[in-house]
Amino acid sequence: MTTKKKLIAGNWKMHGTLVSVRQLAEAVIDGVEKDASLLDRCDFLVCPTFIHIPAVRAVIDHNRGALRVGGQDCSPHETGAFTGDIAAPMLKDVGCSAVILGHSERRQHHAEGDQTVAAKAVQAHQAGLMTIICVGETEAQRVAGQEKTIVKQQLDGSIPAGATASNTVIAYEPVWAIGTGKTATPADVAAMHAFIRGILVGKMADGAGVRILYGGSVKPENAGELLAIPDVDGALIGGASLKADQYLAIAKAV
Ligand code: PEP
Repeated sequence: MTTKKKLIAGNWKMHGTLVSVRQLAEAVIDGVEKDASLLDRCDFLVCPTFIHIPAVRAVIDHNRGALRVGGQDCSPHETGAFTGDIAAPMLKDVGCSAVILGHSERRQHHAEGDQTVAAKAVQAHQAGLMTIICVGETEAQRVAGQEKTIVKQQLDGSIPAGATASNTVIAYEPVWAIGTGKTATPADVAAMHAFIRGILVGKMADGAGVRILYGGSVKPENAGELLAIPDVDGALIGGASLKADQYLAIAKAV
């Protein structure tokens, strides 16, 4: 059983307005400050859209809150003629401490492959950002019994040289469980997280220390059971992270 501090990461995706993201960040910070024991057990990170990062950062600065902010993606390049892209040093510059990479929605809608994810991770690490590298199989791949092959392939291809337990977090997110209300069974989660741990230990000198998050319809009702599974070191939360009470209830379940 791991003793790492759990990482409770909210992926706000393409949601919110300036007013609503400020309110959400304030409500999360209020909730964390009301229950100081939460900070002994959990680290808190929220990832708004790029354009909302400074607003959330301002709320954090104003409250001196123990909430960190991250991006949902970054460029595989450091700077240059890449219209519409955001570079890792820019995320760092506006106060991010982390970035989500290789989310299945990016892999699916932007055709991102493992090599691109690894190149992005290199940039993020060089900029001093912690990467949350997402992996996970589709429903068809699970039905075909290929989930471990796929996850191993994604880990091998997406984790760059230079990854360590302090700059890298892995999020196992079965694609069929994201935003669907379907959650992997605790037995399936336990088996996959143990499998991922084995790969990380084989790959990285400090692989035992890398946090492995579970993501896919995590809610207050299932968080206690999921977060108690060995090698589940936190959660990457989509829908439920858009409501401060649900996000906080997930952390309280730790
Ligand atoms: C996600 O987008 O990373 C996610 C896990 O979403 P949800 O919690 O809504 O399934």
